[in-house]
Amino acid sequence: MCKTTSGRQFKRLNWSQSRDRHVGVGYDAGMPQVAKPKPTCAECGRVTIRVNPILDIPLCAHCQRGHPDKYGYITKTRARGEYRLRESDLARLGSYEVDNPHYKKAAPMQLYLHQQVRKLSREKYGKDEPYIVSIIPFSEHQLKWFADDPDRIRAMSPRSFQRFVADRLDAMGLEVQMVGDVYRKDGGLDLIAYPKRDRCQFPFLLAVQAKHHHLRHASTTVSEVRDFHGAFTSRGLPFGTGLIVTNTSFTPDAQWFADNNRAILRLRDLEDLKRWLRNDFENESEWREIPEAIEVAPGVRIFIPRKSVIIPKR
Ligand SMILES: [Zn+2]
Repeated sequence: MCKTTSGRQFKRLNWSQSRDRHVGVGYDAGMPQVAKPKPTCAECGRVTIRVNPILDIPLCAHCQRGHPDKYGYITKTRARGEYRLRESDLARLGSYEVDNPHYKKAAPMQLYLHQQVRKLSREKYGKDEPYIVSIIPFSEHQLKWFADDPDRIRAMSPRSFQRFVADRLDAMGLEVQMVGDVYRKDGGLDLIAYPKRDRCQFPFLLAVQAKHHHLRHASTTVSEVRDFHGAFTSRGLPFGTGLIVTNTSFTPDAQWFADNNRAILRLRDLEDLKRWLRNDFENESEWREIPEAIEVAPGVRIFIPRKSVIIPKR
């Protein structure tokens, strides 16, 4: 049963249906009808006109919010990414559509009941712990929408921004895994990346942090950059390079700190994201931390030519 009418229309439809159904309790068709009892919340028993659109039961707003483990929703994107479920798996579950709260012009979001998604994942994989590995790529349409006005990135949620950064690194030829919790405040790692096997045979690990700001003038500060640097270089972690991507800019102090650690630290800001949105990854700007020549011994200079990276195609 896949219900995909629009949220509002759907609610109205079900309200009348379920009212009829619940009226049926103790109501005999042969009896003269006196007053229709009003539908009552399946949890608390109070009168409510609200219906949970997926379970199709009367459920008041208070109980809908109060029992997230039973009635919480999850988006299709997260259900696919975190629980490794396919479109065809999810088609077995009820769902409903709501307008995307972040971007008005974007396609509506499809919501599922989190508990049903967990159950399905348990049936399929024997466990229901979120499995955060696969990255759902952004669609052409989404990328174009952000390329038209990169300022729109500010309206993303921090988690969407992480996915967005992951998507762009993937386009560059890196395999990306998402880690950690976006709301963690210890300067930790959001993504781990390494070269795709079919693009490069030499392995190395890149630690990535995605720093999202809703406000245009909010910059990523030196203490945030320093925290991240400390996080990926400490505890014997095996990262060769750390990358911080922000959707606004970095403070001059942050840039100064990075310049002094340019061998292992890279900062990318909104200007870089604009290039990434155009799939322009070979730009010289991408090489700004790498010197054009290195003096490996007195008088022995090795030149590092730009745009000479050849990505072998299979
Ligand atoms: Zn209730």
